[in-house]
Amino acid sequence: MRILLVEDDLMIGETLSEALMDEAYTVDWVKDGRQAILTLKVQAYDLVLLDLGLPEIDGMGVLTAIRDAKLETPVLILTARDALQDRIKGLDAGADDYVIKPFELGEVLARMRVLIRRSQGKTDNQLSVGDLRLDISNKRVTIADKPIDITAKEFMLLQTFMLTPDKVLSKNQLEDSLYGWGMEVESNAIEFLIHSLRKKIGQDRIKNVRGMGWYIAQADDSKVE
Ligand code: CA
Repeated sequence: MRILLVEDDLMIGETLSEALMDEAYTVDWVKDGRQAILTLKVQAYDLVLLDLGLPEIDGMGVLTAIRDAKLETPVLILTARDALQDRIKGLDAGADDYVIKPFELGEVLARMRVLIRRSQGKTDNQLSVGDLRLDISNKRVTIADKPIDITAKEFMLLQTFMLTPDKVLSKNQLEDSLYGWGMEVESNAIEFLIHSLRKKIGQDRIKNVRGMGWYIAQADDSKVE
């Protein structure tokens, strides 16, 4: 899950990006509207967290650019308490929801989950493939109801696979979903993560298609030998 955070307030930006990374999101943080628009042209995101009062181009301008470009990325706006008109304008301009500053992190995260799952056509925070289950809200993974001990990066990888079962994802696509800009990625990081994830959830759950990538199989053919 890759999030674009657009916020010029350094303290809010730092707090949010750290909290989002703790929640196993990949975060790219930009501090003005122009940068946000440029970024959205070259990188796909699962959600945009958008402050309205921004230098260069304000949040409303970013929102208009997003919708003009026919991007369907959910947008959650961050707005000041007294700015009712801005909230109305934002929603009318295509924002999906808003949070009022100062906000509780828990509320921001919950609203993000709602928007992301809505954009994926899902009604709850659970992903399941066979007896493997992943809960996005509490970051838990179980197999046949038995909890699996998993790291944040393994969780992110598994979530990426489980969002699109049976779809082969290339190493580039996986890196893109797991690592933001400026993060150093070892050349074999994805292979290494897949290896450690397989050890925890079972060797056969993540299939390899040589030269193409990996996928998680929706139909449970892991027991057919
Ligand atoms: Ca601002």
